[in-house]
Amino acid sequence: MAQHPAAVSVNGRTYAWPQDPTVVVCIDGSEPDYMIQAVAAGAMPWLARALPQGTDRLADCVVPSFTNPNNLSIVTGGPPALHGICGNYFFDRASGQEVMMNDPAYLRADTILAAFARAGAKVAVVTAKDKLRRLLGKGLAGICFSAEKADETSRAEHGIDDALGLVGRPLPSVYSADLSEFVFAAGVRLMETMRPDLLYLSTTDYVQHKHAPGSAPANDFYRMIDSYLARLDAQGAVVALTADHGMNAKTDGEGRPQIIFLQDVLDGWLGPKRARVILPITDPYVVHHGALGSFATVYLEDGIDAGEIVDLLSGLRGMELVLPRAEGCRRFELPEDRMGDVIAIARRHVVIGTSPSRHDLGGLDAPLRSHGGISEQRVPLMLNRRTPGLPAEAKLRNFSAFDLALNHAVAAAAPALSRAG
Ligand SMILES: [Zn+2]
Repeated sequence: MAQHPAAVSVNGRTYAWPQDPTVVVCIDGSEPDYMIQAVAAGAMPWLARALPQGTDRLADCVVPSFTNPNNLSIVTGGPPALHGICGNYFFDRASGQEVMMNDPAYLRADTILAAFARAGAKVAVVTAKDKLRRLLGKGLAGICFSAEKADETSRAEHGIDDALGLVGRPLPSVYSADLSEFVFAAGVRLMETMRPDLLYLSTTDYVQHKHAPGSAPANDFYRMIDSYLARLDAQGAVVALTADHGMNAKTDGEGRPQIIFLQDVLDGWLGPKRARVILPITDPYVVHHGALGSFATVYLEDGIDAGEIVDLLSGLRGMELVLPRAEGCRRFELPEDRMGDVIAIARRHVVIGTSPSRHDLGGLDAPLRSHGGISEQRVPLMLNRRTPGLPAEAKLRNFSAFDLALNHAVAAAAPALSRAG
């Protein structure tokens, strides 16, 4: 066996070398109720057996409760103030441009994945969408590919030739439950063939944006997940499950979307073009949420008093919390240089838009469900192993998933869970 260090330090935290293959799964948009309901319906038999002998906790994700900030938090072990990724894009005052943050150049911290790979670990990452792949794979000498583009992999770029052939499934559509199933199928095949020391799997919330917890399509999705988790467990892996954010209906009692059109509100108060609303959920894949989430940041023209705007916005019906930049960045551990002058967060069933003409809801074939706010901060944090050293009252974050899996999980009692059932 190759020599390796006993532990690896990254971003001020130390992680023990994995004794068993360690899998961290980020189930996109997995509001805690999805798994509670699926277990109650008998759709997750493996999880139902694993949890009583493992760890079943809740954790807080990062606000804005969006996909990229949280995935990067999970793999760096820290908040966006550390790693810099606080949304899909930000407004660069110097250039006057809105800048996409998909490029790894915007990532300011090392990842746990890259650090372990440098220390000699076998590391693999599979994401659903390609937009996350390059960020998660920054500096990583290992395997990293997306389900979306699994037909384009090369050893030079992704650490693996022909990922599609390895998985043995057809290339999935980017808007489908299959995209996430492909991620799990790939994870199981990688575990069977190369047995990585660390494996990170990240799905997409296509199903959660459409279907509420306990609905038949949601339970079917979680039944699929359960079958793959059982196979990872059967390989002797430590399996940690968490989510990037929760998910809520953003509608009134009639199923109509509840939207604050913030650019229009500000233009009405200030006159046009004196404030710029940035919705960091906006990305090239907006069909299932129309670029509507519960978090916005506002850039103000010089001379406008941010405190006054905070007071005005706080009084809007449907707003949960509005803060000036410095206070908001302190509270949510965000990078000040990538946030506007004001941070605005809507209530549980309300989203923030810019102007009606800039949100195409024509692609929605179900009542709007979305995320981004404090109301989607609660996520599961579960392991198939016990974590007896973890205080029951400890406030947990989703970005402690690697810490729990590597530093707190104890060896499985024999026989392994999956074989006992
Ligand atoms: Zn997400």
